[in-house]
Amino acid sequence: SNKKITSALLSVYHKEGLAPIVESLHAQGVKLYSTGGTQSFIEEMGIPVTPVEDLTSYPSIFGGRVKTLHPKIFGGILYRRGNEDDVKTAEQYEIAPIDLVVVDLYPFEETVAAGGSADDIIEKIDIGGISLIRGAAKNFEDVVIVSHRSQYADLLRVLNEHSGTTTLELRRYFATLAFGVSSHYDSAIHQWFAGQTFPDRPADVFNFKYLPQNSLRYGENPHQSAHFYGDLEGLFDKLNGKELSYNNLVDVDAAVQLIDEFTDTTFVIIKHTNACGVATAPTAKQAYLNALSCDPVSAFGGVIVTNAKVDLETAEELNKLFMEILIAPDYDDAAIELLKSKKNRILLKRKNVPAVKHMFKTILNGVLVQDKDNATEAATEMTPKTEKVPTESEYKALEFALKVCKHTKSNTIVLAKENQLLASGVGQTSRVDALKQAIVKAAEFGFDLNGAVMASDAFFPFADCVEIAHQAGVTAVVQPGGSVRDQDSIDFCNKNGLAMVFTGVRHFKH
Ligand code: 5GP
Repeated sequence: SNKKITSALLSVYHKEGLAPIVESLHAQGVKLYSTGGTQSFIEEMGIPVTPVEDLTSYPSIFGGRVKTLHPKIFGGILYRRGNEDDVKTAEQYEIAPIDLVVVDLYPFEETVAAGGSADDIIEKIDIGGISLIRGAAKNFEDVVIVSHRSQYADLLRVLNEHSGTTTLELRRYFATLAFGVSSHYDSAIHQWFAGQTFPDRPADVFNFKYLPQNSLRYGENPHQSAHFYGDLEGLFDKLNGKELSYNNLVDVDAAVQLIDEFTDTTFVIIKHTNACGVATAPTAKQAYLNALSCDPVSAFGGVIVTNAKVDLETAEELNKLFMEILIAPDYDDAAIELLKSKKNRILLKRKNVPAVKHMFKTILNGVLVQDKDNATEAATEMTPKTEKVPTESEYKALEFALKVCKHTKSNTIVLAKENQLLASGVGQTSRVDALKQAIVKAAEFGFDLNGAVMASDAFFPFADCVEIAHQAGVTAVVQPGGSVRDQDSIDFCNKNGLAMVFTGVRHFKH
């Protein structure tokens, strides 16, 4: 099944890198066929080449739309060399074999990316080239297909190191790449058409299969295999540490989403996608220490993110904690040196990359797609519902609590003061349980809840939550409102001097 290349058809859009291939083919006595532009390129090298027009007896017509689409070309590629009938038919119609096809397609995606006009884009839909690729790949038994300029180096190796002889295995390898190229190309065309025809459909629904596939060691658990479709290197510079795992990536996502809610110097500590520490402070070190104090037990092995540059004094504190990952926009050199002392500790430096706009979740036999929750309510969007209106400091605390609440698993209650998360109840089956959990945790880590504020992801169907919160010392509450029994909670607050505001926006996170 080893075959020597005796004839080749070259039809490439980008001519760069083609010269050494042409030279090598010529040196080995391979007969060359080519289309207009590629033919001129070869002729300029002073190497003889037969124009496809000599085979087809047609010129390139319709502005290049039809160049190679002809039985003499496709017959030469597709006939089975080992099949008697095929060989006879080829002789009868004087169809010469084509053993190697080299194609580089019209730059469809590049034209779309460059903002070309619709006419321009449609003219860049390669027809003959894609057919050449598919035909030659189908007949990999006899034919070598080079379907993209990125494969020229592979081809050169075949020509120079194996004198143009290929194994069946190698031809099959090229065919596999070829169907990858052709399916990617047609998918890109489909995507562009879909964008024109269904402008309201989220485009990135179709995008993921084009993202680089990264193999992960395993999924959420060791017996689950997993991949990440995305460009990690585009997102982060990894300055230190082991490979990111599936769970790491999930937590990194949660960490990044939450920190991006804050503009002042802030530290967030994430465990299993929920925040167990969040604090804003004048210095990075203080923000970190305050975040850590929220729940130093949970912080062990957590994912830490900050929006501040990590300096040495902050690094000295961070270095005392066992953490999985630290994410920051930047680090001082001395800070990096110190933090690198643990070789497994993952240190990421963020880059500015636009995130995907939609969220996906597999359900039964399909996928749910939704917009990301991009709403964040500022104090100005909070409507007081009680006689008592929150103080300025309480408003700041309510804003802070709501940011954390939005990024915490439902049902959740978040207790906070102006610049610090005090405690939260996460992922509970009732909001009362979430609140009780938060109160117990706050006490456990020594926080006095007098004057604290409370944020709830959804409305209160009963007055029980504000009752329990009041007993614990909470003085102001933010919630979306919208329960038929909102008034029960409002009445309780009025009777007991609490301030409560509504946002009208629910923030479930399941
Ligand atoms: P050239 O520069 O050699 O004139 O054209 C090369 C390009 O034409 C390649 O990108 C190849 O994929 C494409 N091509 C080859 N045959 C055909 C054809 O019959 N129709 C169309 N539309 N493109 C072709």
